[in-house]
Parts: sequence; C-alpha cells; structure tokens
Amino acid sequence: MHRRTFLRNTGILSGVTLLFQKNALASVFSTFDYDIKMLRNDVGIFTERGGTIGFLLSKEGIVVIDAQFPDTAQHLIDDLKKRSANPFRYLLNTHHHGDHTGGNIAFKGVVEHVVAHKNSLANQKAVAERGNSLDKQLLPDITFGEDWKLKIGDETIKADYYGAGHTNGDAIYHFEKANIFHTGDLMFNKRHPFVDRSAGANISQWIKDLDKVAKKADKDSIIIFGHSLNPGEETGTIEDVKKFQDYLGKVLKFAEQEIKRGVSKEEFIKNSSIPGVTEWTGQGIERPLTAAYEELTSK
Ligand SMILES: [Zn+2]
Ligand SMILES: [Zn+2]
Repeated sequence: MHRRTFLRNTGILSGVTLLFQKNALASVFSTFDYDIKMLRNDVGIFTERGGTIGFLLSKEGIVVIDAQFPDTAQHLIDDLKKRSANPFRYLLNTHHHGDHTGGNIAFKGVVEHVVAHKNSLANQKAVAERGNSLDKQLLPDITFGEDWKLKIGDETIKADYYGAGHTNGDAIYHFEKANIFHTGDLMFNKRHPFVDRSAGANISQWIKDLDKVAKKADKDSIIIFGHSLNPGEETGTIEDVKKFQDYLGKVLKFAEQEIKRGVSKEEFIKNSSIPGVTEWTGQGIERPLTAAYEELTSK
C-alpha cells in the first residue's frame, strides 16, 4: 500500500521563487492522498474520494471500474501509467452516481470504451441534463441489459444486472479468474447506505440481488465494496455481503413493524438505531429508514 500525503500549497512562496522552483516543487505542493492496493493477479483498488475504484492491468490493456471525481481519476490515471505501458481500454461504471462517474471525463480520449447498464446511462444523462452539466460527462458508449462479458489478457470480466437495488442500474463486475467481484454501491461496508429511490432503488430487491452474488462467490472470493465506514475496509468476503443483506433485512423489518404500529414517517426516521444492528454505525441512518418507510407505504 502506498500512502502519499503532500502539503497543500500554503502560498508562502513568493511569485519569483515559485517561478524558479515550480517544476521541482510541483509534485510536493499539489495535494493528493490516495491508496492503491493490489488484491490478486493484476487486479487492484484505488481509494481517495468517492466510490472505490477497481482496475485490471492486463497485457492487452488496462480496465478501470468506476472513476470517482475528475481530480482523483487523474491521480489514478497518472499512477497506472507508471505501472503499465499498455493502453487504457475500458472504463466500466457500476452505476451513475457522481462519486462513480464524475471522473469519467478524465478518461476522455484516454479510454476506448465506457460500459454501463442501460439504466445507468439513462440516469447519468437525466441527472446531467437537470444540472446542466452534460458537457462534463463522458457517457457510456456500450450498454447492456442483463449481462455483458469482456475477455482481456488472461482475464474474463463478467457484468451482471440482477434488478433494482441501490438504484435501478447497478452492475456487478466479476473478474472470473482472479475471483474478485466489484459490487459498487450494492455494498456499503458498516456504513448506512444511500438508497436512491429517485433512481428506482428498491431494498427488497436489493437483498435478492445480493443473494445472487452470494451464490456465485465462494469463500476465497474477494469482494470490492463501493463504500466503507473504515478506511482500509473497502474489500472483504462473502460473509460481509451476508452481513449487509442481514442489515437491509432488519431495516425493512423495523419499518414494517413501526408502520403497523401507526408510527409516522417523520417519527420513524428520528430513530438512532435499528433493532439487532450493531455493526452499522456512523451518520446517515435516516437514509435507509426513509427509503424503507417509503418503499413499504408506496405499495
Ligand atoms: Zn457511491
Ligand atoms: Zn451510489
């Protein structure tokens, strides 16, 4: 693991000094703080800000899963260029959210293709149109419905879509040979998840999606999570997937029970804990509570 923390330019240098020392100091006085960790075979992860990025360095080119934000994506590109002389071939998006596709634009002219589920493309476009930022997007040029497959180098990457979950366009990417899954935001490790009902999220179906992952994976599988409460816990095993499934089940059960008791949504989302849940802590509990309440009362 490489952690590099550099000081931000504090503005203490005079213009002249800065001019002369610009090149020498450029790397020191730019801020970046990222981690790159190789997992197995030639598959690794990059973390800085936003959803965890996965990547493959194959002899037939580089594949990247998700792109965080433009500045952090550039850190990734620069670093991977030092690790491999091969071209960037594919950028795969797990879903449309800005902390996963905002950095797509850094791959413009760098990568050959951008791949995503068809709903992810539709969502990315819709959000960008609403925010007047279509020019800041690099949209997928390859989309799929149920699944998609890429053979590259010694690896095969299989994309699967199992239905709505965190949004209505979450893909799971499976490095079949390395036995590594990137689940995107279908996995929030020990952190209360965002549940994007405006983009078709559904917690009941989400639990079933994770069943499919659990069925495909085995005890040696490495699972890459979209987000983790604790830095350094962006990957785990199928046991973590089952724990998150259990958490989602408890959120739904809690909502169902309180709705039956006649508790209002406003009251319900004030809860600061979920019965039986001990490992999911931190901020944002109102997000899954709100989504569960709305999901169960909108039927
Ligand atoms: Zn995310
Ligand atoms: Zn997301």
